[in-house]
Amino acid sequence: MKKKDFVLILFLILMSFFPLLFFSNLNGNIAKITVDGKLYKTLPLSENKELIITTEYGENIVVIKNKKIFVKSADCKDGVCVKTGEISKPGEIIACLPHKLVIEIEEDE
Ligand SMILES: [Zn+2]
Repeated sequence: MKKKDFVLILFLILMSFFPLLFFSNLNGNIAKITVDGKLYKTLPLSENKELIITTEYGENIVVIKNKKIFVKSADCKDGVCVKTGEISKPGEIIACLPHKLVIEIEEDE
């Protein structure tokens, strides 16, 4: 094998990893929704979506838009979840204590 071929092969191997990296970046973060400590749903923030979460505690309308998630409206007493606003970074949390609802941002793996 010539040195030139080796360099070319090495280059191709390295290139083959790029779409993977690029793809995972595109995927971005996910929102993990838990109700009463149990996993309710995970949603990618890359997909715009409106979700009505109805539980025995009440109703929250959750919206994913422009890679951010927020609670649009809720029938809880304090409205803290709505006031929290948009979250998008890993580790950020929206909590609706009256409804035992937690929305958490996590990095997609
Ligand atoms: Zn709330």
